[in-house]
Amino acid sequence: MTNYADFHRRSIQDRDGFWTEQAALIDWHKPYEQVCDYSKPPFATWFKGGETNLCHNAVDRHLKDRADQNALIFVSTETNTEKAYSFRELHAEVQRMAAILKAQGVAKGDRVLIYMPMIAEAAFAMLACVRIGAIHSVVFGGFASHSLASRIEDAQPKVIISADAGMRGGKVVPYKHLLDEAISLSSHKPAKVLMVNRGLADLAPVAGRDVDYAAERAQVMDTVVPCEWVASDHPSYILYTSGTTGKPKGVQRDTAGYTVALAASMKHIYMGNPGEAYFSTSDIGWVVGHSYIIYGPLINGMATIMYEGLPIRPDAGIWWSLVEKYKVSVMFSAPTAARVLKKQDPAYLTKYDLSSLKALFLAGEPLDEPTASWIGGALNKPIIDNYWQTETGWPIMAICNGVEKAPTKFGSPGKAVYGYDVKLIDENTGAEITEPNQKGVIAVEGPLPPGCLQTVWGDDARYVKTYWSSIPGKVMYSTFDWGVKDADGYFYILGRTDDVINVAGHRLGTREIEESISSHPNVAEVAVVGVADQLKGQVAVAFAVLKDPSQADTPEAALKLEGAIMRVVDDQLGAVARPARVRFVSVLPKTRSGKLLRRAIQAVCEGRDPGDLTTMEDPAALQQVKDSVAR
Ligand code: AMP
Repeated sequence: MTNYADFHRRSIQDRDGFWTEQAALIDWHKPYEQVCDYSKPPFATWFKGGETNLCHNAVDRHLKDRADQNALIFVSTETNTEKAYSFRELHAEVQRMAAILKAQGVAKGDRVLIYMPMIAEAAFAMLACVRIGAIHSVVFGGFASHSLASRIEDAQPKVIISADAGMRGGKVVPYKHLLDEAISLSSHKPAKVLMVNRGLADLAPVAGRDVDYAAERAQVMDTVVPCEWVASDHPSYILYTSGTTGKPKGVQRDTAGYTVALAASMKHIYMGNPGEAYFSTSDIGWVVGHSYIIYGPLINGMATIMYEGLPIRPDAGIWWSLVEKYKVSVMFSAPTAARVLKKQDPAYLTKYDLSSLKALFLAGEPLDEPTASWIGGALNKPIIDNYWQTETGWPIMAICNGVEKAPTKFGSPGKAVYGYDVKLIDENTGAEITEPNQKGVIAVEGPLPPGCLQTVWGDDARYVKTYWSSIPGKVMYSTFDWGVKDADGYFYILGRTDDVINVAGHRLGTREIEESISSHPNVAEVAVVGVADQLKGQVAVAFAVLKDPSQADTPEAALKLEGAIMRVVDDQLGAVARPARVRFVSVLPKTRSGKLLRRAIQAVCEGRDPGDLTTMEDPAALQQVKDSVAR
């Protein structure tokens, strides 16, 4: 077996040779001429001159060997539906969806926004887009109209694909009114809206704009839509993510680099084999859903499970019953889900035959030691933490057991993954920290490996300014995470350096939540911080200064106003962004130059020392925060 240190070293020192080998894992229509063009740093073009297609690699190329094997297994414990699609059936459905999109005028390079629950049609839609060279932008179904509107505005989709409703915990979550509201808020209007009718909620069709999926599908049952071969750097999708400003950034992914990176990760990190089943419990609205519900497993010829529902409904054994039934070999989830299961009867974890399962991968937020030991012990399976971001599309840190078996260390997502030249940097001087166990900013030397973001959609300058300009004196990619590395090369993640918070593995920008709360007529000023939470890792807590404090002068009135402010966030951004508490204060802690002291507020909320406050404008402000938390 290869030595991992050598494998990693080669990926950096013989970059082209290394990635040439990985590129052989996928099909090419036209071979590339150059492995990596890094003549215009920090912009990297991978596999320049080549042509391929993501859908071909995920679906068509498996028809030869595994046409009748499961490709997509859709399970909804909300509607009690279960349907498995073979590669042949998936191929047919994707072509139908592609034919519908073409009939609506969608062509190569056009954007298609997908605002859908976890249903099979959402997978058909994503695959259909990349099949015809259209660029999809999936927006998480839990987002509400303002979040959706800003994404419509930025991506300018020709067509939006949606459904009448999602379901969660037995409750119908209607989508259509949120979508209509978002379209009315956006200055860009899609030409068509393709609606999948699940029969759960009112569709309220808009004449001339809305198109019924079932009716259109019936017209194109046998239509053949070949894959459109696209250049390696043709964008495959845009996925919006939160940052430090209120405006979400569109992470733009290429085609060939992404396909190669995912294929390689399935082999070296996740160790899934063609013909086996992969179960990722994420949602297509997040990056894990893109990479490891849809593309990664399918590229690797694996069946992928798409699950709509809660992990504890009808009972806490549901996921493990699916592992048994479909002989899942690789499972991927988030620490929050493990913490949810920890509160249930552990007997559910041993009730089913899990012999097919090789490992459970957890990512998206810090994995605490008690949770990792509990679930590892209860399942008697390896638990593998891996660290990455929407921007990178696949892990930056992991244990690459497919290359060389290595032990895990509790609290660590492992070592730098091949292709990533990770360094810890002193935030003030920009110098590399080489001493073990010293805290620094986690940064990556360019070029980023294949599969990472190409740029910010429509805004190259923002890409350079946001990601490549924060390390003093160097052009390096910043992850905006703090970390330390031990003497064995294992990293530990110590939280964000910016104002991004992580609630149950979902990234939220505190600025976005602050902007939303500020739109409440009685809010003069607000600060939102992430506060440690036993279940969700972090929750958002808001501190608001009121225009009319008399509206919150009794505990009942304060509670009512808190509820009203939470509803504003629900309506604009969605319940995912709703703060756990809204506290009222008469002044916010700021520096004398007027900068909000979010880190000091956060420290006080978590009972920690707020640090050096010599530059603080009004020291009484922090006391108010303290008192409001104690109330
Ligand atoms: P997102 O882009 O929403 O996936 O969020 C990425 C951020 O989540 C990272 O920058 C980290 O702050 C955090 N994160 C992701 N995976 C891990 C992990 N395994 N351990 C600790 N933090 C993580």
